[in-house]
Amino acid sequence: MQYYSLNQRAPRVNFRAATIAGQAPDMGLYFPETIPRLSASFLRELKTKSKADVAYEVIRPYVGGTIPDAALHQICAETVDFEFPLKPVTRDIAVLELFHGPTLAFKDVGGRFMSRCLGYFSQQQQRKITVLVATSGDTGGAVANGFLGVAGVDVVILYPKGRVSSIQERQLTTLGQNITALEVAGTFDDCQRLVKQAFVDADLNHHLSLTSANSINVARWLPQQFYYFYAWQQWTGAMPPVVAVPSGNFGNIGAGLLAYESGLPIRHFVAACNANDAVPAYLRDGGEYVPKTAVATLSNAMDVGAPSNFVRIQQLFKLDYQTLKTLISGYTISDETTAATIRAVHQQHGYLLDPHGAVAYEALRQYLGEHPGQQGIFLETAHPVKFYDTVEPIIGRPVPVPAALQPLLHKQKKSVPLAADFAQLKDYLLAKSS
Ligand SMILES: *Cc1c(COP(=O)(O)O)cnc(C)c1O
Repeated sequence: MQYYSLNQRAPRVNFRAATIAGQAPDMGLYFPETIPRLSASFLRELKTKSKADVAYEVIRPYVGGTIPDAALHQICAETVDFEFPLKPVTRDIAVLELFHGPTLAFKDVGGRFMSRCLGYFSQQQQRKITVLVATSGDTGGAVANGFLGVAGVDVVILYPKGRVSSIQERQLTTLGQNITALEVAGTFDDCQRLVKQAFVDADLNHHLSLTSANSINVARWLPQQFYYFYAWQQWTGAMPPVVAVPSGNFGNIGAGLLAYESGLPIRHFVAACNANDAVPAYLRDGGEYVPKTAVATLSNAMDVGAPSNFVRIQQLFKLDYQTLKTLISGYTISDETTAATIRAVHQQHGYLLDPHGAVAYEALRQYLGEHPGQQGIFLETAHPVKFYDTVEPIIGRPVPVPAALQPLLHKQKKSVPLAADFAQLKDYLLAKSS
């Protein structure tokens, strides 16, 4: 399998090179040159396969032999070494809980897979790898957790000051060892811009072997397909499900669309957004895609004004707006409705949503209301306790902190303040490397 840059001005590379580089030298995102088709027997036997085998069989063509089969199977088994339960919430709506990993967010899967791949590849190279990652909240923790203590790899996280929840911030800033957190005076989009700039700065790349751990990195993006297969393994509905995905940078839903293109039966996708609605507006307004400046909302991990993976989704559909519009519906859910949804679902169905899951639940509920007779799944991308500051006042009672998080509450935050200014980031990285 080869990957090409969506900017079309960089050489094709294999999975190993794409993972180490993160982003193509022309600043484009890497995209697989073919989408593998799943065999009929794979789909027929899907429900009886183990999670590790599903992950391995789905990802193997994308890895294209750059990791030997036995090592890849091991990486897959470790990556998905926790539960992905599908639970009914209402008669027509089920939740796929993706928060049972070590940092209680779905990004653990991509973080764990990528860190293990990079750990494998770094054994074959002399130079230390520096992973640079911008986070709107959950990525940083998941990536840092995956890389903690991995020899030959340093991780530098950029997060927007005051725009992540207190638990998220602790997950980013308390690890130490090979992990550093930069607290940027700006938005997530600023962080993302700084990271992108770093990758194309000749001077920096001369001194450091930089890679990105954002979902622009194929090793983080591609394994997110697994969720959709695990959902399908547990789905008992007569028809394929509608799947609603709380979306920010559009990596997760993009991976779901890859799974669909490979042959996984999904009836329809709902792209559930908060007030940052560039994609729903595009779907609604007839193909005019206008990135915006991010605004802060209750579902902060989706506060993305210019979703970087959207170009991959367009590519997947060969830039055909009509196909895209037929398969995906976009919804924008306000903070007010998000809060009302958390309250109502807790009261009426005894299920506690986090703000991201609430956006997806409500978008799905609206879609199903407009399409009677269908049933669906929404992805719950984070444990509600990660957003207790938001959720507790809404439901009027405390959210118990899971035992796994208890030690975190007593650790000391350590971060490096940074202006949203590339020269500062560059100086910092150069000083660190010398
Ligand atoms: C990152 C994140 C999202 C958005 O996922 P994308 O792949 O960026 O669209 C949604 N919910 C939570 C909790 C997240 O951390």
